[in-house]
Amino acid sequence: MTLCTAFDFEILHRSKISRARVGRIHTPHGVIDTPNFVAVGTNGTLKALDSKTVTEIGLQLMFCNTYHLLLQPGTEVVRKAGGLHSFIGRNMPIITDSGGFQVFSLAYGSVADELKSRGQKSSGNLVLKIDEEGVLFRSYRDGSPILLTPESSIAAQKDLGADIIIPFDELPPYHIGEEALTRSIDRTHRWEERSLAAHQARPQGQAMYAVIHGGAHLELRAKSCAHLTQLPFDGYAIGGSMGKSKDEMEKILSFTLPLLPEDKPNHLLGMGDLESIGRGIPLGIDTFDSSYPTRAARHGVLLTKNGAVKIEKSIYAEDFGPVEEGCTCTTCTHYSAAYLHHLFKAKELTALTLATIHNLHKMCEHMADVRRQIAQDLV
Ligand SMILES: [Zn+2]
Repeated sequence: MTLCTAFDFEILHRSKISRARVGRIHTPHGVIDTPNFVAVGTNGTLKALDSKTVTEIGLQLMFCNTYHLLLQPGTEVVRKAGGLHSFIGRNMPIITDSGGFQVFSLAYGSVADELKSRGQKSSGNLVLKIDEEGVLFRSYRDGSPILLTPESSIAAQKDLGADIIIPFDELPPYHIGEEALTRSIDRTHRWEERSLAAHQARPQGQAMYAVIHGGAHLELRAKSCAHLTQLPFDGYAIGGSMGKSKDEMEKILSFTLPLLPEDKPNHLLGMGDLESIGRGIPLGIDTFDSSYPTRAARHGVLLTKNGAVKIEKSIYAEDFGPVEEGCTCTTCTHYSAAYLHHLFKAKELTALTLATIHNLHKMCEHMADVRRQIAQDLV
């Protein structure tokens, strides 16, 4: 039994050659066709695009970060505005995270930082205390102390009012021993239970996904699945460290996904580059969030069927055709590669908007294509 009556996951087709499936997630703000890509709008906007444009592109689910919205403008302001959908002018599904990922990244640095620096703490002075209650940290904006707990994270996510919310969890550092990782998972499970209880007290039509942890340790992944699948979550997000290579990620997902219920949606947290999508879908991942396509766009990297194009290269200076022949996005149907090249060279802000529109359109098209392939049992 799940908690949220407005939320439902409908499976339309299961591939005959893999665990891939085509489905539909129903939410209070509409449908998400799966598998799908989820763009990250950290501060309640995709960088360089307003919500109306994002809707026109057809991006069905948008990811917003509770940590950032908590610090600016504050979730109370968003609640007074009538919730995030109303505040940002979006009438399609939104997912928020718990804030845990950003807070623990402050304490331990990101996995990428850590792999580079072998565990040197970054900005560690912003985190004042981590204990069973939660995490006390300083706002990077004004230095004020903020206590993030399972209960306060859920209260913030209730103010924001996203369609899908995430329980508060601990993100352990990548280089951690098995014993410490086990302790971290046990705490995360207690925090997820407290988050679920806070959510159950006031469901508000929202759905909550559990976050499966265990790092690259398969036994601990199994333990996390066994614990969290006993609880009435609406779906599952795969979090924690996914190893240091795509092969390791694939090994972890191949092991973990069969341990989750077949009738609930699975989300891969923070990985949505084309390779991760290509490897994750046959294993049963339904949604992927990533800032990759939007960040690449802002660096002048455009995704095309022939691979990534660096638009600032001189070969595009007099290329008066579209960035990608046949692309139906508003950028390619209105402007040439040469014009985009010029806008990037001239450092015009319009360049970021036009490149982001193209890349997001490509992601939507790519996912629609993958859904067609699964329906034909080709994936
Ligand atoms: Zn295009």
